[in-house]
Amino acid sequence: MDNHTNQEQVIKGKTAQIAVEKALYSFDRLYSYAIPYELEDAVEPGRRVLVPFGRGSRKIAGLVFNVQNGEYNATEIKKISDVIDEEAYINPEMLELIKWLKANTFCTYYNAVRCILPPVLRSGTNLSPLKGKTEKIVRLCETEEIPENLTPKQKTVVEALENTSASVKEICYLCGVTPAVVTNLVKKGILQESAQEVALNETEPEIADRDIDEIILTESQAGVFESLKTLLNSSEAKCGLLHGITGSGKTSVFIKLVGEALKSGKSAMILVPEISLTPQTIAIFKGFFGDNAAVIHSGLSMGKRTAEYKRIREGSARIVVGTRSAVFAPLENIGIIVIDEEGEHTYKSERSPRYHVRDIAKQRCFRHKAMLLLASATPSMESYRNARIGKYSLLELNERYSGNALPDVRIIDMKLEQAMGNKGNFSRILLEQLKSNLEKGEQSLILLNRRGFHTFICCIACGEVAMCPHCGVPMTAHKSPYGTKLSCHYCGYLKKYTEQCEKCNSRFIRQTGTGTQRIEEELQEYFPSARILRMDADTTMTKGAYERGFNSFGNREYDIMVGTQMVAKGLDFPNVTLVGILLIDNSLYAGDYVGYERTFSLITQVVGRAGRGDKKGRAFLQTFTPEHYVLRLAAEQDYRGFYLEEETIRQALLFPPFCDLCVVEICDVVEQNAAGASFAFAEIFENALKSINPIPIRILGPVKSGVGSINGRFRYRLMLKCKNSPPFRDVMSKSLISAHYDKRFEYCKVNAWFV
Ligand code: ADP
Ligand code: ZN
Ligand code: ZN
Repeated sequence: MDNHTNQEQVIKGKTAQIAVEKALYSFDRLYSYAIPYELEDAVEPGRRVLVPFGRGSRKIAGLVFNVQNGEYNATEIKKISDVIDEEAYINPEMLELIKWLKANTFCTYYNAVRCILPPVLRSGTNLSPLKGKTEKIVRLCETEEIPENLTPKQKTVVEALENTSASVKEICYLCGVTPAVVTNLVKKGILQESAQEVALNETEPEIADRDIDEIILTESQAGVFESLKTLLNSSEAKCGLLHGITGSGKTSVFIKLVGEALKSGKSAMILVPEISLTPQTIAIFKGFFGDNAAVIHSGLSMGKRTAEYKRIREGSARIVVGTRSAVFAPLENIGIIVIDEEGEHTYKSERSPRYHVRDIAKQRCFRHKAMLLLASATPSMESYRNARIGKYSLLELNERYSGNALPDVRIIDMKLEQAMGNKGNFSRILLEQLKSNLEKGEQSLILLNRRGFHTFICCIACGEVAMCPHCGVPMTAHKSPYGTKLSCHYCGYLKKYTEQCEKCNSRFIRQTGTGTQRIEEELQEYFPSARILRMDADTTMTKGAYERGFNSFGNREYDIMVGTQMVAKGLDFPNVTLVGILLIDNSLYAGDYVGYERTFSLITQVVGRAGRGDKKGRAFLQTFTPEHYVLRLAAEQDYRGFYLEEETIRQALLFPPFCDLCVVEICDVVEQNAAGASFAFAEIFENALKSINPIPIRILGPVKSGVGSINGRFRYRLMLKCKNSPPFRDVMSKSLISAHYDKRFEYCKVNAWFV
């Protein structure tokens, strides 16, 4: 009977519901812990604590979500061991966001925590911003997945570098590792190191030297501003879509709206799609608002990032400018969130948690009763549709501020060029135009699209592109020991690759890409005295490289800038009058359903870099498929026309915005296991579906994804056309958990996300 009393030790006291750090998705939930009397004051929602976990009661970190008063059985519940944070760094809003991220992206609580807290706070260390020293800087490579087979130390480093860069010294100090650990990660290709050691000099002005009343809005800008002001001052959360052509002065409207928000005591956030755009944008906002503006992006050093985080948290900076991760900035009392170039794919996280900035911004605006302002010259299909059906207010700016027309765009048929014996990457007319610009002292921009790893197959003789007969999307080439195959990434249809065009029987078939470096060299051969600036991932790795590059281009120290999509968007150089676009076909046939949308947007954006000042601009678009309607509409800069065409296709083939897409990825080092498990997952999922009221779903695949194995793992994918609804997410979540406990998945990893 003694035994019995032992088991029933009912105690009056407080318990906390806690998410624990090391949990896998399958057992990631809130666990109850007793709060010892002496910690009662310190344990509160949003603080991290140490708790004993699992059979061995190992001490791990956890985040407190709730605290409850009541009774508990002391023999069934463990006690919190200690408190980590001196204060609650995660406020109630962020706690809600963490729950939202878990429910909507199938991540663990702690994955979401990592995304919200800056690394220094994550580890509980106090690092003050480092002064301008010369240091080697490391950051995560732009890969989609971090490999599984890391040592615990390597893992700590990788996690600490989520959304940030750091000097080797900082990271070693923070994670308690030796530099060798970091060097190894660089060797493995997981981290990238800055080629040069660079000082941390901040060039932004600290005091506001401009007044917003200086900005005189044009009549159409003023009209848009007035409508948006009404939304801003509404007592409810609102969403506006500003569709404004390139150079129409969207930024001027943002500045005025931010001024309005500040006047009524609120704060503001301006998000841009690329790090390369932050120097320009922060300089503008610092110019008007001085130190009231803070910047957050993944290229900041840890010290700087922490300092900015603190300024925002304390309320001394009430305007945040930044890229994707800045959406989590600890701003209070938000009045407006602007997402500029809202259709850009960089707003989607490619790592767990796989969220879209727009969704997080919506959650935040909803909570703060704030206005979300989406802006672009080429809105996403989804947002434009939402505006058309009245969910968002649609506002338009159809004229350039300068009064100039948009640049004329000429499509150049590269098949013809090759037939005429021109084997280079530049058409004759583009070379002539470049020459004339050099003579006039006007600047030129050359865009080279290199997005996507997969090559599509295009016939040089007739321009025919191999398409999937079922989905109408371009097929991509995959090399394997059994020969090259063409595969459709959507339905999985496979076809043998023949080195001959099916339409015209020509043997001139092309599946290669060209690098920016080669283009730069080729250009230099044509124009030996031209000053050429190359901007791509390789040349801009070092801190401050964007600023230096763009500043000197802006100061006319260069004649021609050659670059990848990072030069295509948002930049404002009045002396650029010529734009050349090379190899746009790569983008058109990138092998997924957004290929056309992305291409249309890219062309519109880059063309929009020309003729922004008082001189008119012109653009040349080189392609092997000159008659393609997407290129034609892009050349005419007819967004509406494109939207309507694309809408018809998406509706007919059932792609977003007419459905949501959820991808389930199964990886394993043994290919057969991955393949088998992917079929097993489809079965588990379909069974789970049967237990609820029918919801419409189409399951595509499984399909092998990518070329062979990545990091030694084979990947198989299921694609679900569905509606992202609570019942769907529930079934998916349950299926993911069942798979974890299923023998067929013993060595597999299963992940799901919405695309
Ligand atoms: P968008 O973002 O719409 O492509 P920008 O906001 O970069 O265009 O504006 C294009 C150019 O016009 C910039 O150089 C900007 O300074 C200028 N501009 C736009 N509106 C005004 C205004 N109301 N007053 C003065 N300059 C303006
Ligand atoms: Zn052909
Ligand atoms: Zn297909």
